Amino acid sequence: MRKRDCSGTLWLFDLDNTLHNASHAIFPAINRNMNAYMARVLSVDGKPADAATVDAVRQDYYQRYGITMLGMVRHHGVSAEEFLQEAHQFDDLITMLRFERGLRNLFRRLPGKKILLTNAPHFYSHRVIRHLGLHKHLDGHIPVEAMRVHGQLQPKPSRPFLRKLLAKYGKTAKKCILVEDSIDNLRAAKNQGLRTVWVTGYIPAGQNKKSAACVDVKVKSVLQLVKNYRSLV
Ligand SMILES: [Mg+2]
Repeated sequence: MRKRDCSGTLWLFDLDNTLHNASHAIFPAINRNMNAYMARVLSVDGKPADAATVDAVRQDYYQRYGITMLGMVRHHGVSAEEFLQEAHQFDDLITMLRFERGLRNLFRRLPGKKILLTNAPHFYSHRVIRHLGLHKHLDGHIPVEAMRVHGQLQPKPSRPFLRKLLAKYGKTAKKCILVEDSIDNLRAAKNQGLRTVWVTGYIPAGQNKKSAACVDVKVKSVLQLVKNYRSLV
């Protein structure tokens, strides 16, 4: 039997809550940092905004733009760099990381190119991916500041950026697989014709984990792809 050529597959891997457990300590720290920074930016007459105001603005921007940072850049004149620096301040990032053994083996096994596609900034994702030991197994690393269309920031779930990415790698959508914990990002990818893997193991308890039409494969851990990636490539 002729062996199927799988080398043309392009894997797009999210980072936080897909390859490691950001809910454990990193997301709580980012939330605290972001709230404190936003309270300062939204202050009136030198008085920091209260928690309810910050929360309402965060939710509004997250829903409108898929990422809070974009709303702060567009409506409050802050720079993306400053926002990302302020949000990603950690006392000791490495000790805050929680992840499973076997990620390197997974990346070795998967056929095709593997790209990191994260709405996090490079100075952070670079450190995390090195600590996970995956930097040598990646064919590309696209942090949030590199997600631009016509010079404008277009983070996930931007469909124009996905189209640009496919064109850059010369791939049709069918050859491309997004591996993610965010259902909004998976839905945008599916609408664009990509295949999708939903990773649910790090999603906090209480959040909806019911499968959706935009999900081709649902896994608790990304490591389950070692056994079932063949149905996708
Ligand atoms: Mg994520």
